[in-house]
Amino acid sequence: MVSQVVSNRVSVRVPAKINLALAVGPRADDGYHPLTTVFEAVSLFDELQVEATDAAGISVKVTGLGAEHVPTDPRNLAVQAAQLLADTFEIDTDGLAITIRKGIPVSGGMAGGSADAAGALLACSVLWDIDIDADEIRALAAELGSDVPFALLGGTAIGTGRGTELVPVLNRGRRHWVLVFGESGLSTAEVYRRFDELRPDGCELEVPDDLMAALTAGPVTKLADSLRNDLAEAALDLRPELADTLAEGVDVGALAGLLSGSGPTCAFLCADESAAIDVSGRLSRSLPPDRVRRVTGPVPGARLLG
Ligand code: ATP
Repeated sequence: MVSQVVSNRVSVRVPAKINLALAVGPRADDGYHPLTTVFEAVSLFDELQVEATDAAGISVKVTGLGAEHVPTDPRNLAVQAAQLLADTFEIDTDGLAITIRKGIPVSGGMAGGSADAAGALLACSVLWDIDIDADEIRALAAELGSDVPFALLGGTAIGTGRGTELVPVLNRGRRHWVLVFGESGLSTAEVYRRFDELRPDGCELEVPDDLMAALTAGPVTKLADSLRNDLAEAALDLRPELADTLAEGVDVGALAGLLSGSGPTCAFLCADESAAIDVSGRLSRSLPPDRVRRVTGPVPGARLLG
């Protein structure tokens, strides 16, 4: 095993995602649900730094939003990503220090853990000067989790299979969203279990044609009318109060409210920047301001910093 350190420290920034559409089929024998989804990367980020030190093994330190809920041992998805990359390219991981600054809510339905896995793949491939091509890094990302390849790619993309088969979607302009973070996280596994009980035959696996059309042409109101999330019913069943949050966002001026992935983050699509400023201001009157965030999408996937 060789350590091929060319630079001591590498930093990356990786976006959160929302799903403009999330169509979920019936649970397969392997436990996974086939998906057809439209991902959008939004301007809410985790930052990761990887550094070569003299210490033994891999260490991970987590700060920021919800850091206390993130494991700092081999269960951490960034550690798993670094380890998978190291095993694949026979790199010695001794002395790898990973620092994660969370901006993406933990268990928020915004794929924060996947973002960290994608960030670790990118950052460690640079730290270790690995000659890895786009297909290889995508394949490793797909091994790590359904949302990891999209965190690398970013933008807006259709995801099929487990969500790892991606096709970028060309679309016009920038969308303005207001996010409301949950008071506490919601387990994705629990939401899927409830989905299986409520929808044993799953839902139809297609992205609405009107949503695809709305991404390329027409007013943003058209997109607002075609957003879809098949996990919403199950998530709202587990957290009925989310229905009030979704209604409140629309009451104060959003075009539409949507649960992000498995929730509990609510995403509100707004007509333009000034509408988003207004909606976030009004929501901040009834909610703790640190639970309300204005973001835009689409944004690029994992990027090196500095
Ligand atoms: P998704 O939208 O992909 O279903 P999520 O956004 O709801 O996921 P995450 O924040 O990605 O949820 O992670 C949820 C679980 O993963 C938590 O139990 C958390 O402790 C664990 N986890 C492991 N590593 C990380 C990490 N680096 N960041 C966040 N959570 C992590």
